Amino acid sequence: MELPFAESYKIKMVESIRKSTREERLKWMSDAKYNLFNLKSDFVFIDLLTDSGTGAMSDKQWAAMMEGDESYAGARSYYKLKEAIFDVTGFPYFLPTHQGRAAENVLFSSLVKADDVLPGNSHFDTTKGHIEFRKAHAIDCTIEAAADTTLELPFKGNMDLNKLENVLKKYPAERIPCIVLTITNNTAGGQPVSMENIKGVSALAKKYGVKLLIDSARFAENAYFIKTREKGYENKSIREITREIFSHADFMTMSSKKDAIVNMGGFIGFRNEQDWQKCQMYNIMFEGFITYGGMSGRDMNALAVGLFEGTEFDYLETRISQVAYLGKKLDEYGIPYQRPSGGHAIFLDAKKILTHVPKEQLIAQTLGIELYLEAGIRGVEIGTLLADRDPETRENRYPELELLRLAIPRRVYTNNHMDYIAAAVRNVYERREKITKGYAITKELPIMRHFTIELEPVK
Ligand SMILES: *Cc1c(COP(=O)(O)O)cnc(C)c1O
Repeated sequence: MELPFAESYKIKMVESIRKSTREERLKWMSDAKYNLFNLKSDFVFIDLLTDSGTGAMSDKQWAAMMEGDESYAGARSYYKLKEAIFDVTGFPYFLPTHQGRAAENVLFSSLVKADDVLPGNSHFDTTKGHIEFRKAHAIDCTIEAAADTTLELPFKGNMDLNKLENVLKKYPAERIPCIVLTITNNTAGGQPVSMENIKGVSALAKKYGVKLLIDSARFAENAYFIKTREKGYENKSIREITREIFSHADFMTMSSKKDAIVNMGGFIGFRNEQDWQKCQMYNIMFEGFITYGGMSGRDMNALAVGLFEGTEFDYLETRISQVAYLGKKLDEYGIPYQRPSGGHAIFLDAKKILTHVPKEQLIAQTLGIELYLEAGIRGVEIGTLLADRDPETRENRYPELELLRLAIPRRVYTNNHMDYIAAAVRNVYERREKITKGYAITKELPIMRHFTIELEPVK
């Protein structure tokens, strides 16, 4: 008999989680003003809010923390991290930051000015926030197919090269500080970008004299998909693939809380010394001296180990198979989600599930609240709340897709938890016809409103 798939690690430490009653959850949700970010984590049984910073570190990472060098300047931990980044990405220069958005803040402070345009494939919310905060514009050039959740494409996160070239033709190079290529494409469903597409984007960048930034939070998962789906990469190692990916870029911004499996951390990788030097001042102002910028020595040590563990094939196979396992369960129950299942999450297609809730009443958020009330599972809305208002008109932007993202933390839950999640989604799906009313906004911030927004049920 062929041996079944099994995880490439075993469990050494556990943390208790507690189930609650529906009555408790109704009260907690109302107290939280129907914003899942406002819930205490103790009120959540399975937390799929994000895969960011929520992974389980390994024994080797914890051991590395004990050896952290906390020197202010020139710490051993910095050099250890520098070597790991060079080995995994090929970038010779880097600046540490406390997380991914801090990397964006430092890099964009040096690159982006008012009225600039930054084309990309579904810019991540903090990336867009940092662009729009500087009165510049994020132009989405994702392939159209990404918006059709039923299509099974191997690389549904790709940039549409025609759309990109139109933007590059339309604006002078001085107004385009860089192209932002996000791997995997989080907003479009954790969908990967092919090496062919990366090369295509890079060729256009060179043709128009524009730099290429890779927003790299899930670069290792993207490399796994290239290895398993793209011709010619079957026999390459994950690290050979990641180095090839980054060989096409001028910069990378990294949220280490994702594929590097640490709870906090980030960095910017640079191809050339001048770009690195230009950013140093901002790093010192916003993050800390250039050899620790926002990270302690022990955290840089854990990150250095995490970069290697996160780019091991067996680990990636375990991780991505678990997400696929949840996808298969949902298939059994006929539940619509962004197909195929992504690297880090399942994105439920809320518009196809809650067909009776009008878009003005926040379809994906309504589904998120229902799933929490059903089973104490916390997902996150990728829909109208996240899309925010148009920066000029201040009107709501209703995105084509209303998704509820169920992000799977790394090395944290078992497949029994996946079964529980699938059953809870099925229960909500079976009573979907009865869910006809959504929520209205009562309070919101001017930018990145979804984190702190307050809502009330529509009567
Ligand atoms: C998480 C993320 C960021 C921001 O990183 P933080 O560590 O959360 O600040 C940027 N881009 C992408 C694609 C991400 O997933």
